[in-house]
Formats: sequence, C-alpha cells, structure tokens
Amino acid sequence: MKFSQYSFTPEIINNLEKIGFKKPTDIQYKSIPAIMKGEDLLAIAQTGTGKTAAFAIPIINDIQKKKRNHKESVIRALVMVPTRELAQQIGEVFTKLGKGTRVNTLALFGGVDQESQIAKLLKGVDVLVTTPGRMFDLHHQRFLSLDKVQTLVLDEADHMLDLGFKKDIVDVMERMPKVRQTLFFSATINAKIKKTAYDLIKSNAIRIQIAPKDPVSKNIKHSVAFVKMDDKRFFLERLIKENPKSKILVFVRTKVRAERVKKAMDRVEIESMTIHGDKAQKDRSSVMNFFRTGKVNVMIATDVSARGIDIANVDYVVNYDLPDVAENYVHRIGRTGRGKEKGDAVSFCANEEKPLLDEIEKFVGKPIKVLELKQDEYRQTVDFSEDTSLSVKELMGQIEELDKKVKKNKKK
Ligand code: ADP
Ligand code: MG
Repeated sequence: MKFSQYSFTPEIINNLEKIGFKKPTDIQYKSIPAIMKGEDLLAIAQTGTGKTAAFAIPIINDIQKKKRNHKESVIRALVMVPTRELAQQIGEVFTKLGKGTRVNTLALFGGVDQESQIAKLLKGVDVLVTTPGRMFDLHHQRFLSLDKVQTLVLDEADHMLDLGFKKDIVDVMERMPKVRQTLFFSATINAKIKKTAYDLIKSNAIRIQIAPKDPVSKNIKHSVAFVKMDDKRFFLERLIKENPKSKILVFVRTKVRAERVKKAMDRVEIESMTIHGDKAQKDRSSVMNFFRTGKVNVMIATDVSARGIDIANVDYVVNYDLPDVAENYVHRIGRTGRGKEKGDAVSFCANEEKPLLDEIEKFVGKPIKVLELKQDEYRQTVDFSEDTSLSVKELMGQIEELDKKVKKNKKK
C-alpha cells in the first residue's frame, strides 16, 4: 500500500511525497491504522525502521482535521523523549511532516534559554516534543497546560519507564485527561518494563512487535574484537585512518573517557569531536551539526547519543567500550544501518569487559561474531606505532595467519 492511498489530509500526502516516503515501513503499516482508530499501543520495532513517522503522521493528521473546527492551538499531543537532541530531531520530523497543516510543533528541552520557548508556548502549540525536566519547569511556572492532551507518546519507552524517569512519567500522566490515547514506541523492551507499560495503558491495548527474535536490524553487520584496554586507541586510529571518508560514531563509557580518546586521536592528527552530558547545550548542538553535515567525520559519544539519533550515512559504530547496560548495545549499533542503509559495528572488548559481553549476548539472544585476534603473539610482528600501509582487512588476515601458525607450533 502506498501512502497516497491513505486517508490522510492532502497536505500530509504532499509532504510525504516531498520527503520521499512512498510506502510505509512495516511498523508504520501496522501502527498507523491502530493509532487512527484511537487504540493504545505498545510498538516494538528495530532501530531505524521509521517509528517516528509511525506516530507523527497519524497525530498530525488527527490534529489537522480537528483544527478545522476549533482553530486555537492547545497542546493536544505530548511526545516525551529522553534526550535534548532527540527532542530536537523529532520536533523537526513533526515540522516537516506537518508543513502547511497549521499544526504547530515545539521541541522543548533544557540547557538553553527558556524565554524563546515560553514565547512560542504562549503563541500556541499543538504538539509538544519534550524532555521531562524542562517541561516540568515550565508546567510549574504555568506556561503550559496538559489539560487538553489527547495523545501521549513515549518514545524510547522502555528507557522512559525505567527507574530514573518513571516517577516523572507517572506525574505527567496524572496531569492529563484520563481519557486519552497512550503510545509506547521502542526498539527494546524487557519483561519488567513491559509489565510497567501495561499497567499504564488501557487493558485492551494493542501490542505490535516486528522481528521479535533479533533486536538487531539485519542491515547492521556487527562483531566484537578482543582488544587489550591499552591497545584500543591503536585500533581506533587504524580504523579511522583506513576509512578517511567514513562517518564513524565512537561510543565510550564515560565523559572523561570521551575527552581522553579525543586527545589520543588529536595526537595522531585525527580530527574528532565529543558529545556528552558535561558539555554546554550549544556545544552539543554544534557538534551534532558538524557530524550530521559531515564537517567532522568522527564523533566520540557517551550513551547520551545511544538512543534515537537518526544521522544519515553513519558507516561505522565503534563500541570503544562496551555499554554497561545490555540494551544500549542494540541502541548504539542502531545508529548505523538506518532505513535502507547498511552499516558496520565493531566492539572492542577488553578482558575485564567480558562479563558485559555475556550480558549483551544474552540480550541479543546469540553470540556476536568474533574477529579473532591474539594480542601477545601478533604484537611481535605487527607494530601499530609504525605507519604500515596495511588495511584492517589485511591486518586481520595477517593476524589470523599468525594465529594459525601459533596453534600449529603449539601442537608440535
Ligand atoms: P526509528 O525511530 O525506528 O529508529 P526513525 O523514525 O528515526 O527510526 O527513522 C529512520 C529513518 O528512516 C529516518 O531517516 C527516516 O527518514 C526514514 N524513514 C522513515 N519512514 C520511512 C518511509 N516510509 N520510507 C522511507 N524512509 C523512511
Ligand atoms: Mg526512534
């Protein structure tokens, strides 16, 4: 079925065409009719499968139709997300899909001046995309009201319902009309959170799950390399130098490590930028812009960028450190291979991180392909400090050869 065959308003059909969306993705195909009928939804689909438009299209469509009768803008849809960058990104999707519909969207998040946000709220907003903190601030100051919210969306729902955010979410729900639609979207969910989720939605809520067996999109080739902690930077250097035109997103465990890895890259003349929670919001935004537009090809991030971020053509995700939370493995590597794109991900696993790897494998339900490396033995021959012109593939080949030799020698 094509989008042009749906009963959306002409403006939405036109916007979809302009953006280049012809057919719904699986999750859109399944969710959109249910949302249009007013159902509550728990929708799980892999990273990069178009979950944003799956809720944005029917929400804009519904509000636009209602606005024909009462023209004033009040917050009718509230979309809650975990990070500022995600609020901004999803706000932009709503704005693009809603062009010409007079459905006004505001992305509201902390770390920036609230004056201009207040001005926009006072002018009237139909869709509010927000992180919990700033929304509560402005709600307490009575600049926004949730009395007319008819649809609540939790994107990255499992994360939003997890410990840190749950109280906020329940609080928000209490401030909204009892009769409303609640939509949960995520790429991952576990049994505990699923129960929490079901407690918060109508008992006849619909559950849609696409590709439940493998949470990792088939567009992503992912593997793990066993690397000593101290050797990780050499591997990263090599990977980047061999792929000078590639967009590479590197995840590290902490803010401090992000800066440290950047310094290590500086020393070998690799340009990179960092993004994490200790940076000023304007710096976070400009780093995102630089990476998005390709002005800088290497972004070193903490888990603040693990979820939801949709940047075209990320060629590699590198887990420089394994994530502490197994779910985040799926979200981090899901920053590549979006839509129809293909992507690669590699994780550097040091000895002390093996328990984390076990957790991740349990979560994804199968072992992760191993790039065979034997540190001590190949180190004698392959010297990373010297600039050889080997490619990673050749290097891996050499290492495998050495490996075989070592095994043979052992047998003798
Ligand atoms: P998810 O939230 O599932 O991770 P997103 O909503 O961020 O995924 O969408 C991933 C990418 O797919 C985006 O770049 C988006 O523009 C694109 N996309 C979404 N829906 C369609 C569609 N129907 N046809 C083509 N591309 C789409
Ligand atoms: Mg998403």
